[in-house]
Amino acid sequence: MEQVTRLRTQRTMAGTIAVVVETLYLAKPRGFCAGVVMAIEAVKDQAVAARERGDGGIAVYHDIVHNRTVVSRLESELGVSFVEDLGDLEVARRRAAEEGRDVGDTVVFSAHGVSPVVRQHAAELGLATVDATCPLVTKVHNEAKKYARLGYHILLVGDSTAHQEVIGTRGEAPEQTTVVAVVGNRKHDPLLADPNSVEVPDPSKVVVLTQTTLSVDDTMKTVDLLKRRFPELIVPPSDDLCFATKNRQDAVRTIAPSVDLFLVVTSEASSNGMRLVELATDLTASARRIESALDIEPAWLDGVRTVGVTSAASTPDDLVQAVVAFFRSHNQDLRVVEEGEWENIAFRKPRRVTPVPEAEAAAPGGGETAP
Ligand code: SF4
Repeated sequence: MEQVTRLRTQRTMAGTIAVVVETLYLAKPRGFCAGVVMAIEAVKDQAVAARERGDGGIAVYHDIVHNRTVVSRLESELGVSFVEDLGDLEVARRRAAEEGRDVGDTVVFSAHGVSPVVRQHAAELGLATVDATCPLVTKVHNEAKKYARLGYHILLVGDSTAHQEVIGTRGEAPEQTTVVAVVGNRKHDPLLADPNSVEVPDPSKVVVLTQTTLSVDDTMKTVDLLKRRFPELIVPPSDDLCFATKNRQDAVRTIAPSVDLFLVVTSEASSNGMRLVELATDLTASARRIESALDIEPAWLDGVRTVGVTSAASTPDDLVQAVVAFFRSHNQDLRVVEEGEWENIAFRKPRRVTPVPEAEAAAPGGGETAP
């Protein structure tokens, strides 16, 4: 039976636009990955535990994940404070005191990982730490440490020298690491080295590592180019792009041929989310980033009958469901197509590690952890 489509109109500054979207294609998988779930749950658990201990609120070093909604919910619902530098903790404490809250001595490291300098700083401040670094980021840190120890120069492919994951990984061996742009890099960070011209101290001792959340295609092109330039380049056996990044990009590729418009629900700071925007743009020439359904402009929907929707690994799914509700409010007969598989992966939550007094740390088996 021919699908009945209700025409609704919305008045916009551009005039009257008929919203006639008939079918929504929801990418699957999309949204939260195992690393993000682990990191958010760790913050929630620690915030509750700190309150029960009477320790006040907890602090998180950097946004726990790159999504504004997640961060503001943790701030407003659990009184979590976010700092970009551990030196800012005192400022955060004063601000919290003005609001009738307090910030205790527990800091959570975000899913993006931190450099050894930050760990050292936390130890100097006597903070208890909870390391919510995604294990797949930790894997890249371990590779950086291993190859630096062996005297290799590291070419770290990343989308920005300012991205927290890149800062953390580079921090494992800053003197031996050059951050290199992907081929086709669209961010134009002037501090990224060009893979066409980057030089290394000894071309026979060079390894390539990558940020976990880059474009699969651009990363392959970049590694191939670097291999041609440095024939002895070491490429670690399991590549560094994470499963969540790859799966979300594959899901976009699957539905792109069916859609007139692609909406990607992501914050701008999300590397994996912005790679989805770029991919959807390349495949459909009609993709938009939205933070939430509130950003949808009726003018984008002029003549559009099919819409694809995906979301970054840090985007809560209720934001996607709000997009579905938006389109359903214009067409009760909206068809929602959702094919593919959810990931079935979970990461163990980290424990809180309390500072170890120097004398105790020196003793065999010294140290203590607390749940
Ligand atoms: Fe880990 Fe990948 Fe998720 Fe980042 S996007 S938290 S690397 S699983």
